[in-house]
Amino acid sequence: MGIGPRSPRLRKPPEQLPAFFYRLSAAAQRIYLRSDAIETFNLVPSPEALRMTAVLIKTLTDGRQAAAALGARQLADELCRLLQVRPIEIEVRGVRPHNARGELHGIFYPTRPPRIVLWMRTAQRHQTVKPRTFIRTLFHEIGHYLDYALLRLGDSFHTRGFFQRESSLVRALLPAGDAETVLGQTKDNARGRGA
Ligand SMILES: [Zn+2]
Repeated sequence: MGIGPRSPRLRKPPEQLPAFFYRLSAAAQRIYLRSDAIETFNLVPSPEALRMTAVLIKTLTDGRQAAAALGARQLADELCRLLQVRPIEIEVRGVRPHNARGELHGIFYPTRPPRIVLWMRTAQRHQTVKPRTFIRTLFHEIGHYLDYALLRLGDSFHTRGFFQRESSLVRALLPAGDAETVLGQTKDNARGRGA
């Protein structure tokens, strides 16, 4: 049974904070620092969660969208069950929207009920995205959800702690070699409010 960090180890405030941090309200700064101080969800993956991850990788390799959507939902449901939060709605769409700044991989809506949208084909050549990239995006968006539902931060920022928590999910669920490959590809280190 995975339990969220009830008493996170608090570090000293990081020396380097992004410029926009100083433009946040005092309340938002407190949320940011709390987010930054929590490094993991302490998830203990169930055999089911590991099996579902493996199945999802296989499904994505085959490029089947409906099956990928089902697989992503089942895995998300299992993670929510392990972390004792309500299930989150997940929608999987085809070709990623894009603009001059790049392609959108996924998005979390903190609506009621909250939901996540993921895209599984690249904007350029409409190829299926790499399975491990897709799963990392899934964990990223679930990370935003958990900031609200589990950590009760009231907002979700791309802090260093946020990315560490995302990485902790990758390490917990992907096979060791795969996890390192995925984490090595991490480029999205921009800090800001989550999307
Ligand atoms: Zn984000």
